[in-house]
Amino acid sequence: MGLGIDIGGTFVKFTDGERRWKERTPGTAWELLSLISSTILKLRPKKAGIAVAGLVNTIEGVVTDSPNLKFLKGVPLKREIEKRTGVEAFMVNDATAAAYGEYRLGVGRGSSPFICLTLGTGLGGGAVVDGKPLLGASGSAMEVGHVVVEKNGWICHCGRRGCLEAYVSSYGLERFYHMETGESVSSFEVIERAKNGEEAAVRALAGMASYLSLGLMNLIHLFNPQIVALSGGIPAHYPEFIEMVEKKTKEISFSQPAKDFSLKRAFLGEFSGAMGAFLLSEEA
Ligand SMILES: [Zn+2]
Repeated sequence: MGLGIDIGGTFVKFTDGERRWKERTPGTAWELLSLISSTILKLRPKKAGIAVAGLVNTIEGVVTDSPNLKFLKGVPLKREIEKRTGVEAFMVNDATAAAYGEYRLGVGRGSSPFICLTLGTGLGGGAVVDGKPLLGASGSAMEVGHVVVEKNGWICHCGRRGCLEAYVSSYGLERFYHMETGESVSSFEVIERAKNGEEAAVRALAGMASYLSLGLMNLIHLFNPQIVALSGGIPAHYPEFIEMVEKKTKEISFSQPAKDFSLKRAFLGEFSGAMGAFLLSEEA
């Protein structure tokens, strides 16, 4: 039996293939290591797959950068967990794991190239090409959130300016809404207000959608994908968002790759990363 773990900015999600559960993400690396190690010691999987919201060196098992989990930077998670549990572990970027989960069990089945974007606290990206997750030289491929779409644009959690994530993320949406109204409310509240027909909230979502379309156009011109899946709370709570983005992307892209692609809501929901890490742990 394998075990899939997905360390996100807010929750750590677990699955053993059948059960799925989540815990609040602790605030220190020490507490996080204890949470993961105690779960592994209890369940005794053969192998543990650990997905992390950040850049992961898959060869060394180290988080090299994590704009939304800053305390994990440089922590040798793989080595520490193996030392504490005796169970073999491997690490992967969370969006790459999500892409693999969606490719095997969700909306990406049978498609290649398949791309999955995870829209939440930040914006992650992963790709599966000919059935294999695209890792790059050491696991950092497909950092879609940190592709720059605006020189000298909005500041991103990574410290750069004009990253796609600065516009397409929960904090990006909050900023669009603040520009419209001067009010600071959570992204969840913006979506609620849009659902209730508030025009400023709908405009804030449209602002985010236009940047996401630009990012998708770039991906489509690079990869010519058949399917792009979008996961996260926004498409789940505001389904019109998918249509809005797909339509706009097709308008601005070259016609053939625009025809080839469709944008779909991810099927596995918030557990796609944990599921992908589980599948990779079973297959490794
Ligand atoms: Zn960035």
